[in-house]
Amino acid sequence: MTEDIIPVLSEGWWANSYIIGNFLVDAGARIEGVEPKVIILTHCHFDHCAAVEEIQRETGCEVWMSREEARFFERGRRESSAADFFGVEVDLGFEITRVLSEGDEIGVGKKKYRVVLTPGHTPGSISLYEPKGGSLISGDTLFVDGVGRSDLPGGDENALLRSLERLSEMEIKNLYPGHGPLGRGNIHPH
Ligand SMILES: [Zn+2]
Repeated sequence: MTEDIIPVLSEGWWANSYIIGNFLVDAGARIEGVEPKVIILTHCHFDHCAAVEEIQRETGCEVWMSREEARFFERGRRESSAADFFGVEVDLGFEITRVLSEGDEIGVGKKKYRVVLTPGHTPGSISLYEPKGGSLISGDTLFVDGVGRSDLPGGDENALLRSLERLSEMEIKNLYPGHGPLGRGNIHPH
């Protein structure tokens, strides 16, 4: 595993989080002692962002998501986050401070994580790819034992298939998915 990514694997309902330097990728549940400068959201589903409002209120951290996802989220936060769909009460009042685009590079130490737009699970889902280590943080697009669902609000099965095709062209040695265990070895979406 690339030691720069510290996984915080979730049990049950909430998404996995990943700590990379001052960045935190996804924040469904609060992680004791972690005060990020920036939270990057792979997408806006509540199980990935339910703790963001509280963390931002306490630390003043930035919150980034893709432009497409921000547009989707702002159409109606409860509906787009799937909180309505699952009938969950969550705080979604955080402020998005930057929108990300395809190809944006996020530097952490000597590593650069590239934003890859992988829509389908939601309209603006992203993955983060670090080419040197072949590390992919995939959100709910790709898991070790399957792919994300496309039947939630804003989901699009054809878009998801195209995103998986894109990922299959990349060299992925370490997979850091939004749920479930980490993947290692030559990972090939299928
Ligand atoms: Zn999701």
